Amino acid sequence: MRILLVNVPHPAIGSRIPDDHLPPLGLLAVGGPLIDDGHTVRLIDGEFGPAATGDLAAEAVAWHPDAVLFGHSGSTSGHPVIAEVAAAIAIALPGTPVVYGGVFPTYHWREILREEPHVTAIVRGEGEETARRLMAALAAGTSLDAVPGIAFRDEAGPWATPDAAVIRDIDAYRVGWELIDHARYSYWGGLQAVVVQFSRGCPHLCNYCGQRGFWTRWRHRDPIRFAWELARLHREHGVRVINFADENPTVSRKAWRIFLEALIAEEVDLILVGSTRADDIVRDADILHLYKRAGWARFLLGLESTVEATLARIRKGATTTTDREAIRLLRRHGILSMATWVVGFEEETDRDYWRGLRQLLSYDPDQIQMLYVTPHRWTPYFRLAAGRRVIQTDRRRWDYKHQVLATRHMPPWRVLLWFKFIELAVQGRPRALARVLLHPDQGLRHAMRWYTRMGRRVWSHEILGFLRDPLVQDGPSVAAFWGQPQEAEEESMRAMRAERPVETCLSV
Ligand code: SF4
Repeated sequence: MRILLVNVPHPAIGSRIPDDHLPPLGLLAVGGPLIDDGHTVRLIDGEFGPAATGDLAAEAVAWHPDAVLFGHSGSTSGHPVIAEVAAAIAIALPGTPVVYGGVFPTYHWREILREEPHVTAIVRGEGEETARRLMAALAAGTSLDAVPGIAFRDEAGPWATPDAAVIRDIDAYRVGWELIDHARYSYWGGLQAVVVQFSRGCPHLCNYCGQRGFWTRWRHRDPIRFAWELARLHREHGVRVINFADENPTVSRKAWRIFLEALIAEEVDLILVGSTRADDIVRDADILHLYKRAGWARFLLGLESTVEATLARIRKGATTTTDREAIRLLRRHGILSMATWVVGFEEETDRDYWRGLRQLLSYDPDQIQMLYVTPHRWTPYFRLAAGRRVIQTDRRRWDYKHQVLATRHMPPWRVLLWFKFIELAVQGRPRALARVLLHPDQGLRHAMRWYTRMGRRVWSHEILGFLRDPLVQDGPSVAAFWGQPQEAEEESMRAMRAERPVETCLSV
């Protein structure tokens, strides 16, 4: 089959403001196994330009695909764009199956199949094996019922097959790096870059996060093979920056240490950036020199809040002492720390923001990333927030950089003022500015200056956006806006499945 992978331009500030673009790892991860199955696969990346919907549709038509696949890592906010581009391609290529995968469709498959007739099938959960089986079934015209982990539409309406088995051996599926021109992709201020994934999932239980639900359990790749692959990307494709998509790659100290030592042995000049938990950094205090030697330049630490009560309520399982210590340890080893701090919890007052700011300043992170609490339907936090009022009904804005829920004690303009003031106070204090201007490590200085430049552009974009895009005064509740929680959906599907055997064939 001729299979076209389409990466749509994402509307989020994080995608539109920087000049750098990273490869769409999810589509490449699906593309590699499809190539190995003998399909002819091509990727169109609409992030460059960004490409207009009509241009993407015209490019798709010109290639004459037998199937078109969509997916996006910025899942909720990317969905409206995928819906628009997929509809345009379906009109231009009637009868060509349109397949859609990723986090949002995994948890909203029923609504998508009801409301978007151009979508043929949805890949639910991790996609490598499921996409292979689905494409084989479409090519052969056999029953889609036999493909676990998908949803499709039959005469009775949207229907989901049982969940696919969790992939035990992630190394059995290779990333289709040959689908991209590496020279086009960059990060860290114009350095050639890729996104990779050492591990999937997370063993922790923070209730606003969907990692555990989507990936089911934490697994990791073979650390030595993984280090070899990074080294090969550097040697053969000139990649300089490796951006880890993992939320928590350091869960197993043993595996992580093997990876670090294997990468050091490869002797490649790589810059590694990614996220992890503060308590893993503290746990690894005695091997942080290996992190540095392997190339680690920055860790994003999800501090989320500096209030112990909030940390307990969101089940973060962290303490303010650990967070502070992690930042100190990273600095001692010449690794930048970026703290994420989430605002918009319902009960917050001016006093909470003021106290949080003072605590953030005492943590002294190198960089800060402020986010708004955003309850997705697939997280346990959704239930806690179900009764809160939605003030942002444009789904493209559900990207963590826009306030989407009303807060009880202050209007949105005051939340925004605090949001921007905290950023300014943390990034603009003399000590932080001195690091940006005078950091002894030239590479880190370059990175901090790049981040500061980008932050300045984001600043004006966010403030103009707030003034331009009206918020809803009396919006629906979260539950009314997104529908019932995920567990209820799954329960009703299980009941339907028990009652009804289905045979559905779609051929291309
Ligand atoms: S927020 Fe981070 S630590 Fe918590 S469950 Fe998600 S990935 Fe794990």
